Amino acid sequence: MKQKRFILQENELPTAWYNIQADMPTKPLPPIHPATKQPLGVDDLAHIFPRECCVQELDTEHDFIPIPDEVLEKYRFYRSTPLVRAYALEKALQTPAHIYFKNESVNPLGSHKINSALAQCYYAKQEGTTNVTTETGAGQWGAALAYAARVFDLEAAVYQVKISMQQKPYRSSIMRTFGAAVTGSPSMSTRAGKDIITRDPHHPGSLGTAISEAVELATTTPNCKYTLGSVLNHVGLHQTIIGLEAEKQMAMAGEYPDVVIACFGGGSNFGGLAFPFMRHNLKDGKHTEFIAAEPDSCPKLTRGQFRYDFGDEAGYTPLLPMFTLGHTFKPANIHAGGLRYHGAGMIISQLLKDGLMRGVDIPQLESFDAGMLFARTEGIIPAPESSHAIAATIREAEKCKQTGEEKVILFNLSGHGLIDMSAYDQYLNGDLVNHRVSDEDIQQTLNRVPE
Ligand SMILES: *Cc1c(COP(=O)(O)O)cnc(C)c1O
Repeated sequence: MKQKRFILQENELPTAWYNIQADMPTKPLPPIHPATKQPLGVDDLAHIFPRECCVQELDTEHDFIPIPDEVLEKYRFYRSTPLVRAYALEKALQTPAHIYFKNESVNPLGSHKINSALAQCYYAKQEGTTNVTTETGAGQWGAALAYAARVFDLEAAVYQVKISMQQKPYRSSIMRTFGAAVTGSPSMSTRAGKDIITRDPHHPGSLGTAISEAVELATTTPNCKYTLGSVLNHVGLHQTIIGLEAEKQMAMAGEYPDVVIACFGGGSNFGGLAFPFMRHNLKDGKHTEFIAAEPDSCPKLTRGQFRYDFGDEAGYTPLLPMFTLGHTFKPANIHAGGLRYHGAGMIISQLLKDGLMRGVDIPQLESFDAGMLFARTEGIIPAPESSHAIAATIREAEKCKQTGEEKVILFNLSGHGLIDMSAYDQYLNGDLVNHRVSDEDIQQTLNRVPE
């Protein structure tokens, strides 16, 4: 029988993360201060984030950064994750392509986000922090942070977008089970929240309001640091554990990917899988293609502009160099909540600008069609986010069917969809629709990006 799953033993886990910044032909532009336009250094960022994360954020020198033993020990709770050959999906598609996926859904929280949550909480603990805060939309990041904070004995306060808290109540149950204090945002517990509620008592909340509240709590509470689940360089760095494992596992399978695909919110699961393989394009003359799959309702890679823009709706963060739709862009309320972000991370934005990867945009219905086929063939119900990667994979596999090429395609299954079943219900009832955004809407929010 042909081998289906490839698994590393605990003693075979990678012991360093890969920092692609060291190998990039063009380094990412620095984040800058909105008023002075001066580049920000470690000290500017370190009163909000754990200092070691800020060092990693701006490190363009070291290609490999050792994973602390304490983090590796926690990784062993659930890593390695399996690399799986999707024979059943291949058969259903009648494609000559070899399709593999890296299954990041097999951990206590069900998505890749835990890989960085553990690292960020470890560094926070190391520097004497007692409390961590964050914001969360659908709740994947908040749940990962709540778990990681528990594991490193930190108090976690999570601001969850109020409307998402009502739509996905089980995610706040998970956060609270691990001991986090969960507050719907906007709330009366911060000045920012009070201001918003005073202006609009029925504000449903957004990532913008929740970021403002979490950052305010971090800066006004002693020994408290703020953490972020995507977009930033150090988050992508921590996620490279995915691709470094996959590299070894593909070797076990005796193959090397021609195409690497992941869904795209801020870029952490894409970068996590792609960067270690991209290293071989940059250094060893490999020609792997890298495809980031975004929703057509939030298409910053395929239809955004490369500019300096704020990371949040309210404009509290530094200005970041990114492919953006404008920080005031309000994506449609699609079920892939983790992909509803207006900008791409700084590293990814530079790689895209330099033509080292490309984006594809996927309509919501196509993503669910793909997720259904995957569930019915491979037996795993994917997160609506991950289904975008599956849809992009199917497009590539169908091209192979046309051309007869036996391409090796590797995609990231960033999470499972077991807490998203109301979305599947809607799909099955025929109530889901597409939300492709118009050029006019994009232009309107791009016009509001600061010069
Ligand atoms: C958050 C999330 C994403 C998107 O975030 P990235 O930083 O782009 O990876 C994708 N899939 C799942 C399951 C998520 O929870």
